[in-house]
Amino acid sequence: MAGSVEAGPMTKVRHDRPTWAGRVPRHKIAELYKKEALGICEEVLIDDVGIGLLVRIEHIFRARKANSGLASCPLCQREIPHDFDPAFQLRCESCNWELTWTEYQKSFQGKHLIASGMTAFLKEYVKKYKVARSPQEKLILIDTLIHRYHWELEGGLTGPGARDLIAGKPNEVIDFLNQLSYGTSSSPEILATRQEWLDKVRKSRAQYADAVKERELKDEKKRQKAEEKNRRRTLKAKARQAGRAGRSNAGEVRDGT
Ligand SMILES: [Zn+2]
Repeated sequence: MAGSVEAGPMTKVRHDRPTWAGRVPRHKIAELYKKEALGICEEVLIDDVGIGLLVRIEHIFRARKANSGLASCPLCQREIPHDFDPAFQLRCESCNWELTWTEYQKSFQGKHLIASGMTAFLKEYVKKYKVARSPQEKLILIDTLIHRYHWELEGGLTGPGARDLIAGKPNEVIDFLNQLSYGTSSSPEILATRQEWLDKVRKSRAQYADAVKERELKDEKKRQKAEEKNRRRTLKAKARQAGRAGRSNAGEVRDGT
């Protein structure tokens, strides 16, 4: 009798969109540094932020994988290959789930889950955090990670890596990190990272200013070239006109030459 008329779970196809871990809220990070500056070790808060970053990174790698041809079932995480056709039906037999690739892709677009130029740092964090014992060790790993720059290893310094890990626009994230609390109780490693960070911000801003200057210079050259071309064209036209006037005075009119 039991369950005889009920529709079993396998008869109804599910279309859940995958959900993605968000970035770590700024107020938690601010609190972390406030406590550290006062010499207070808040293990629960450190774990909260540290694990939040771990999950976020796991989802970054999952989104990247999906973007390179291997999506995963949002219910059991089984990997499902696809061919990038927007209408491609991703399907998980065991969960009775399906969704088109375009719907799946929409679920992570605009969520800063690709984090290019950060791969080495994300991997390093995951590897070290999983074996870190003391809260102090964990805090240093968090601190190191959130002060990385995209493409830092390649010397690019294009933007703060924390943009993909902590909520906010690039400049907001930089200002936020600049304003974190430090004190005599802050650990030497954290103070050293702070110094490196300030240097990177300076360097990145200088790189940016140089790029802007270079672009302005290029634009100015282009403008001058266009002006010169224009000037010559006007001169030529004037010369032609004068020539035509001369010829017509001489009685022989030729057009279009
Ligand atoms: Zn599944």
